[in-house]
This record gives sequence, C-alpha cells and structure tokens, in this order.
Amino acid sequence: MNILERYHAMEYGPAPEARNEADAWFAARDFGKALFIGGDWKAASGGKTFDTSEPSSGKLLAKVSDANAADIDAAVSAAAKALPKWSASSGYQRAKVLYAIGRAMQRHQRLFAVLETIDNGKPIRESRDIDVPLAIRHFIHHAGWAQALDRDFPGHKGVGVVGQIIPWNFPLLMLAWKIAPALAAGCTVVLKPAEFTPLTAILFAEICERAGVPKGVVNIVQGGPEAGAAIVNHPGIQKIAFTGSSEVGKIIRKATAGSGKKLSLELGGKSAFIVFEDADLDSAVEGLVDGIWFNQGQVCCAGSRLLVQEGIADALIAKVKVRMSRLRVGSPLDKNTDIGPLVDLTQLDRVKGLIAEGARQGAVCWQPDATLPSSGYYHLPTLATGVSPANILAREEVFGPVLATMTFRNTEEAIELANNTRYGLAASVWSENVNLALHVAPQLKAGVVWVNGTNMFDAACGFGGYRESGFGREGGREGMFEYLAAKLPLGPVIKPATSSAQPVEQADGVAIDRTAKLFIGGKQVRPDGNYSIAVATAKGKLAGEVGLGSRKDIRDAVSAARACKSWPEATAYNRSQVLYYLAENLSGRASEFAARLTELTGANAKAARDEVELSIERLFLYAGLADKFEGRVHQPPARAVTLALHEPVGVVGIVAPDNQPLLGFISLVAPALAMGNTVIAVPSERYPLLATDLYQVIEYSDVPAGAINIVTGRSAELAGVLAKHDDVDGLWLFTDAETCAKAEADSIGNLKRVWSGNGRSLDWASEEAAGDALLRRAIEVKNVWVPYGD
Ligand code: NAD
Repeated sequence: MNILERYHAMEYGPAPEARNEADAWFAARDFGKALFIGGDWKAASGGKTFDTSEPSSGKLLAKVSDANAADIDAAVSAAAKALPKWSASSGYQRAKVLYAIGRAMQRHQRLFAVLETIDNGKPIRESRDIDVPLAIRHFIHHAGWAQALDRDFPGHKGVGVVGQIIPWNFPLLMLAWKIAPALAAGCTVVLKPAEFTPLTAILFAEICERAGVPKGVVNIVQGGPEAGAAIVNHPGIQKIAFTGSSEVGKIIRKATAGSGKKLSLELGGKSAFIVFEDADLDSAVEGLVDGIWFNQGQVCCAGSRLLVQEGIADALIAKVKVRMSRLRVGSPLDKNTDIGPLVDLTQLDRVKGLIAEGARQGAVCWQPDATLPSSGYYHLPTLATGVSPANILAREEVFGPVLATMTFRNTEEAIELANNTRYGLAASVWSENVNLALHVAPQLKAGVVWVNGTNMFDAACGFGGYRESGFGREGGREGMFEYLAAKLPLGPVIKPATSSAQPVEQADGVAIDRTAKLFIGGKQVRPDGNYSIAVATAKGKLAGEVGLGSRKDIRDAVSAARACKSWPEATAYNRSQVLYYLAENLSGRASEFAARLTELTGANAKAARDEVELSIERLFLYAGLADKFEGRVHQPPARAVTLALHEPVGVVGIVAPDNQPLLGFISLVAPALAMGNTVIAVPSERYPLLATDLYQVIEYSDVPAGAINIVTGRSAELAGVLAKHDDVDGLWLFTDAETCAKAEADSIGNLKRVWSGNGRSLDWASEEAAGDALLRRAIEVKNVWVPYGD
C-alpha cells in the first residue's frame, strides 16, 4: 500500500468519552427521591416510579420518582411560598443567583454533557459543544436581564408562579430556555422534564442547591403526561410555558382557555431548507448535515424538507449521498460519532412507520450502506426523493433522520412550497446572492430564518414559531415579555349580550331611512342572511338598524382580508399616512360622532367630545408609531448578525368592547393596521352605529379594499366563527368571559394568537391602553440570521 492508498484507507479509531464520573453520580443518587420540591428531595407521594434507559443499549439507567397531582400541588405551594420574597428581591440579587447557576454549570460542564448523552443518545460532540454551552450562556445572559428589568421593561413585573413542561430532545437546553428568563423576571417555577430524559434536570437541581437558589424558587418534578396535565390545570399557576408536540400544545391551549393563565407554546415544525442554484453547494451540503442529522433529526426546527432548484438538483443530491455515506453512526459517547441512537424504541418505530408510509405514497427512500450497532435504537440517515407535496414525509414532522426532497423552478415557487405547511418554525435559505436571500426571508412564514446556515441559536435572539409551531418567543427581549405582566387599566366587567332582539320604540319624526350594511372588501354590502338588528338610543328609542352578520359574512370578510396584499406590503410610511388621513377625516366629522355617542350611550356632551378627540389622538399616535415600532439587530457571539424583524401577525379578528365604543374600537383596530395586519372587526353589539358611521371616513381615507372589514351582529356568535376560522391568524376579544373562554378553546385549529380580556374590558382612555402594549400584540418577531466573513 503506498502512502496515498494508506491515507484514503485511514479509519477512525474509537475515541470514547469517559463515563466514570457519570457512573459515580448514578451510584451516589437515590432516584426514588427525585422530586425537588421546596429545596428538598422527595419520593413521589403515590410511591410510583418510571424507568429511564440508555438509548444506545436499551439498558435501564434508573427508576425515577413519578409525580402525581398531589406532588404537583406540593410543588406549586412551595413555589407560591417562595414567590413574595423572590419577586421582591432586587434585580442585582437575582442576577447574582443566575450568574452563580451559570458558573456552577460551567464547573460541571463535562458531567452535564456525558449525562445528557447517556440519557438522550445524542452524540457527545453535540451535548459537549452545543447543548451545555448554550444552556450556560442562557443563565449568564439572563443575569443581565434580571438587573435591566426596570430599565427595559418599565411598568412590568413577573407573572408569578410558572408551570413549565419540556420535551426530551434538548433536555438541559430547554430547561435553561425556560428557567433562566423566569428567574430573571422574578417568577418562581415548577418544571417538569420529559419522562425519557430526567437526568440532567436532577443534576441541575443539585446545582441550584449549591448556587444558593432560595428554597422553593426552582421546583423540579419528574413525571409523565399526568403530572404535566396537573401543572396545566393547577389554579395556583399564573403562566404555562410548554415545549413539545403540536398535538399536546393544542390540548394545553384548550385546557387553559378562560383561565387567564399566560401561555407560550413552542411546538413542532417541518422547516424548509431552500437551496437556490447560485448557492455554494458544498456549504449547503454541510448545512444539511447540521440541518437534518443534528441530534438524529429529533430537532423541532430540523430542515426536514429540502427544496432545491431544478437545475442543480441532481448535482446536490449526488453530493448529499456521498456525504451521507461518510456519516458515522455509532456510540454517542464516541467523540467521532455523527449519528447516535434515537431516544426510545417507540420513537424508532414511529420513524420506521412514517418512512414505510412515505414509500407507499411514492417516495424513493435511500440510505447509505452502513451497519448499525447490534443493540440500541439506531436508524440510518435517510434521503427521500420523488416526494410530492402531499406525501406524508413532506407534511408530517418525522422527528428522525429523514430528509424529504422536492424541487422548484423559480423563487415564487420556492416560497410557495416552503410555506405549504401548517407549521412555521424555521427555514434556511442558501444563495450566494444576499439580495435574493433577504428578499425571500421576509416572505417565509417562519419565526426564524437562517441565511446560508442552519440551527444557529443564541440567548439574545428570540426563537419561536408562526402558525401551528406555536406562539411566544424564547430568548432575548421578546422572551422576557413572556414572563412579565403589565398592570393593565381594567375597565368594566362585560355582561353577555342578550341574544333575543330587544323591542325598541320607534323614534319621533321621520328622517331619511339609512340602513347600515356590512363593510367587506372596501364595499358596503348587505348581510348574507338579509336580516337586520335594531339599535337603541340611550333612551330606548330606535336609533337605526344594522346588518346581522353571519358565518358566511365573516368568511367573506376573511377572504377579503387575506386577499388584501397591498396593506401588509405597503411601506410603514405609507400606512402611517393613511392612518393620519383617517384621523383627519374623523376630525372633520367630530361633532357628528360626538352627537352619536351622546344619543347612543347617554354620555354628556363633554364626555362624548373627549372620546372623539381621544379617538383622533389615538389614530395620530399609531400613524406616528407605524414607522417607529421597529425591530432590532442583535450581535450574537457568532460571525453573524441577527435581524429581529417586526412582521404583521396577518389577518386579525377584533371583537370590540361596549365601553367607550368609538375609542375602544379605534384603540384596537388602529395598532393592528399600523403594523400591517388586515382586520375583520366586530363592533360593539350594543353601539354598532359608531363603527358603521366610520364607513365613509374609511372610504375617503385611501384605505385599500380589504384592509378593514366590519361585520356587525351578535358578538358571541361572530367571535366563535372567527375563532374557528383557520385563515384568521390572530383574535383580540373584549367581550364577556364565556365568549372569550370559548373562543380561546375554539382557536386550536390553527393555534391562532388570542388576546382576550377574559370578560373585562380596559379603560381605553388610559395611557397604558395605548402604544407598545398593543403594538406588541400586532406583530410576530422574525429572527433572520445573516452570517458574515469568508
Ligand atoms: P410531547 O408533546 O409528547 O411531550 C412534551 C412534554 O409534555 C413532556 O414532558 C410530556 O410528558 C408532556 N405531556 C404529554 N402529554 C401532556 C399533557 N396532556 N399535558 C401536559 N403535559 C403533557 O413531545 P415530545 O415527544 O417530548 O417532544 C417532541 C416534540 O417537541 C416535537 O414535536 C418537537 O418539534 C417539539 N419541540 C419543539 C421545540 C420548540 O422550541 N419549538 C423545541 C424542542 C422540541
């Protein structure tokens, strides 16, 4: 053999990571007392345990305490007891604790990495170089937020006791994403790890003991869905933060409906990995390895759909196959391993089942020629070609090492294919033309977009999804808001409207009959059902009639709002001018609106004038903020900048309040419009004429057709239709508690972003009911990572 032949024949030798420290840790622990509650280690009160085993061998690692509802109750009590002192402690004090946690984790970094790999099966290279350092960075970064709270979040304080539920794919990292911002905000927590991977959370609890975390501030309860459900339903918890499958996310959305609990959901994904023909193919192939085979593909944001431009498809696929053949599948504790086992036999069976079904539906599934270890839950990396958009491998989250490939012809088709999913977590765009990449990124319905890269994360940059990938963000400034609450200026409790038409006395005198229709797609249209409802004056006389909107009218309004592209695509300056113009035109009719307010609500002349004036001022405010409530640029510790862009939520339904009926309506519609959303507004059921009187103001103000749609009628019924409509992205409700709760429960179809007053309205005249608090509801933050350097 000559030297060249020797060089090519060179094989990797085994490079196992030592596990003696981890084994010593196992030997020293009593896993039958694995619940960390109020600073003590407790057995499950029901005496139950569950098994955690090693995915690389299937061998039992430990029998761990399995919490039941009584244990969750004890943990919530401990968190509630610790809350007053912890939330009242200074930011500096909390910062010191967070910093101490980060430093203590650093000192035990190797043990964390080895335990994570043993318990989860992920290659040690990943747990050592990615999971654990990122988790540490999270605590140290959030120490800063604890101290910056008053400066950066004036008027806000921690929400209280937080229930947190995490999955098994990044056990320590997900724990860090949850606990660090909660502690920084002054909350206390009850966290439940996933039942496949309890170990690093136990080590973390030991770190909390050593780092001086006050007893009860962090409670870690082990268990399965029963324990999870007990957390979700516990009345002593003010916020639920969940990471896991969309299926369970929907159960949780439904279970918390009407409870007033704050909720963030980080769910599944089916992220697109888009390669344009001018991409650097070798870099794209390396990106793919990271995108889909990182953690065996058990990654929520895995680039599991490869979309490749037709002209380069064959060349890219050939390169991918060569690279796949070189991926090393084997012991996760070996430092040279690229692909370890899946987490559990059930997961392995699920992946195999989905591949078989994908093949049955026409996909051609290719795997490299390699031998798998004889025991453990291993699966070869798999490439599926000939995948149609309807194939199960293109639609469902496989959560395994399976890449589904499709081709596209041009940019528009790439965007359409990428967005052809119910998820919206992440996307990668590969092109040497940064102009093209930055043209595509804003058009992708995903919370994170990586340009010429993949799976980049940082504590300072928000992460989270659109659509069924959930709502809320983790990390950075927007992640902190998830654990904070502002004191809102509460208005009256809203009583349910009586649904039967009230007899209304005919007004004296004969005026020209004017019928208020609905306002859909820029036109005044009759309600589909051709029914009207009477509107009474404050004195019980007939003030007029408005259309009784129905399901069909809401559907038409949603279609009009969805079809209106010119509003979301308009520049912020342009939107700002239209809102100024609306204000100008309303001002021209101020006395007429004031008279209408007096007639309908009985407000005295001054109060009515003040409400109209404030409504005009609100329009001015949002006109001015339209081009100022902007995103940010982050500089993470990587050769990249992250553009945190503010994007409209999309189509937003608004069910407006009865109190301050003109101001309430405008206070909600104006910020939604300012940020580029299109709106379907259901005006106050009692005083709808204030909204229908606005039709002409809107018509004269250059508002594009479909940007504002107004459907009058029964609030409860129309709210229900909006909640169930899968083309409505957001829903804001200031109506009675029962309608709000029902709408929250009904919103699970597409997991729309619901903001409800839970039966309370706001005092719309107060400063807190205007500005950033509302604008934040009107946007999604999209983080676009743009690397630099050669
Ligand atoms: P899962 O939804 O089955 O379980 C997640 C957690 O919820 C576990 O702790 C589980 O015990 C608990 N749980 C199960 N049923 C429950 C119930 N009815 N009530 C309350 N809690 C319940 O998900 P998984 O299989 O552990 O994790 C994989 C999923 O997580 C994937 O869909 C993945 O995309 C998602 N994920 C998302 C992100 C993100 O940031 N978006 C990150 C990691 C994983």
